[in-house]
Amino acid sequence: MDCLSPLVDSHGRQVRYLRLSVTDRCNLRCVYCRVDKTFIPHDRVLRYEEMERIVAVAVAAGVRKLRLTGGEPFVRRGFPDFLRRLRAAQPDVDLCLTSNGILLAPYAGLLRDLGVRVNLSLDTLRPQRFERITGRDLLPRVLASMDALLKAGVPLKLNAVALRGVNDDELPGFLDLARSRPLDVRFIEFMPMGDSTVWSGRSYWPATDILRAARELCGLTPLPPHADTDGPARMYALEGGMGRFGLITPLTHHFCAGCNRLRVTSDGRLRSCLFDDHEYRLAPILRAPRLSDETLLRVMRRATLRKPIGAHMLEKRQGAAAHKAMSAIGG
Ligand code: SAM
Repeated sequence: MDCLSPLVDSHGRQVRYLRLSVTDRCNLRCVYCRVDKTFIPHDRVLRYEEMERIVAVAVAAGVRKLRLTGGEPFVRRGFPDFLRRLRAAQPDVDLCLTSNGILLAPYAGLLRDLGVRVNLSLDTLRPQRFERITGRDLLPRVLASMDALLKAGVPLKLNAVALRGVNDDELPGFLDLARSRPLDVRFIEFMPMGDSTVWSGRSYWPATDILRAARELCGLTPLPPHADTDGPARMYALEGGMGRFGLITPLTHHFCAGCNRLRVTSDGRLRSCLFDDHEYRLAPILRAPRLSDETLLRVMRRATLRKPIGAHMLEKRQGAAAHKAMSAIGG
């Protein structure tokens, strides 16, 4: 596709980043992520070719970073081939992947060859606790994926959801990991997502407290923001460490002002904000024989223009900030 004029919202922010959920299905049942058990029927999930079309239009309109997420991307059949095709079609895009690591290890070499950067989600380094949080006794699989990615030289970030009373005693272990390995460890503030969210003030562990506790354990030097690779994370160098430590703070320091993202769910619903349930259905356009990429682009522009500034969405903290669970949106 030829270059198109950029996607710019009514606050002057240009969309450069697309997050695409390839499936809402997952092989884990994290307590804070998905509570109900209804999945999108297969025929409503976008085919890979339809996703490729969305990506091509977005890239032509200035998107430079693409993150594939889910559900768990590797549970969808044909996902590695989809990655290969995407990379062939989009050689210049910053291609990123978010995974729980359960099925990833055999693909570490492929991810390196395709130039994919990986975020692994890992909330605990303790096997029994892992099983309590995720419902599966599979921590060794995630650690094996982490090792395989590091061995292959894939740029790697570990993301842990910060949960008071659940993993707030594991800062030393996670800091050790970032000290001894060339990876980023980032704690993400727990967000009230989904109608059946387990949100409660008691499990909320604010970033300011995490930072204070981390500083008692080691020297941390703030690093200048690097929006392309760090996104909304605030990153710190660790004294004597190979890796870095970071915090993602949607609740205590709204990261919405600089948001440059659009999200597409696996059934083709375009969202301009994680916390805004207004969605634009792309599937009918993709599946209508006579509707062209121009129509797709027009809807992307409309969604971008309506992109909310965002931060106020989190003010309704007593309930969910969005009706959908993170597993349906893709984080
Ligand atoms: N299956 C993949 C994975 O585990 O990384 C991708 C999808 S998962 C929904 C993406 C990320 O969202 C994970 O890091 C998960 O921990 C995080 N997440 C889910 N629910 C959350 C919540 N309520 N607050 C903060 N992070 C959440």
